[in-house]
Amino acid sequence: MILSIQGQALGKVTHCAPNFPVLAALGYTSNCRGSMNYIEIYRKQASDRKFNFVFVLLFWLPGLLLQYYKPDISFIPINSGILGLAFMGIGYFFILKVVKNSKCPACKQSPGNHWVVKSCKNCGEQLS
Ligand SMILES: [Zn+2]
Repeated sequence: MILSIQGQALGKVTHCAPNFPVLAALGYTSNCRGSMNYIEIYRKQASDRKFNFVFVLLFWLPGLLLQYYKPDISFIPINSGILGLAFMGIGYFFILKVVKNSKCPACKQSPGNHWVVKSCKNCGEQLS
């Protein structure tokens, strides 16, 4: 108890009750859930967002082109329009993931429309 108070006094961030006060005092909180702060979560989300955006480009754009041009793809026994729809469906799944990963981890709302988000415009949580 005394050690965990000392940990807080030293400026160590603990987001949940530590199992071992001695370790918590030294700054080790990895054995408890929810020890990641919102800045770390948002940074993780940002890398997931880029990863998923690549898949949006890989599926949504070819889907659009297939829908628009409807090329003759006789080597695949599927109508190119239907194939385009299937590609767009997969692309849409990744668009939803991008949207989900762009939400504020604290309030689950849109943190703002800027390219680089410093803090959430909804709840004011620091995000980067
Ligand atoms: Zn927020």
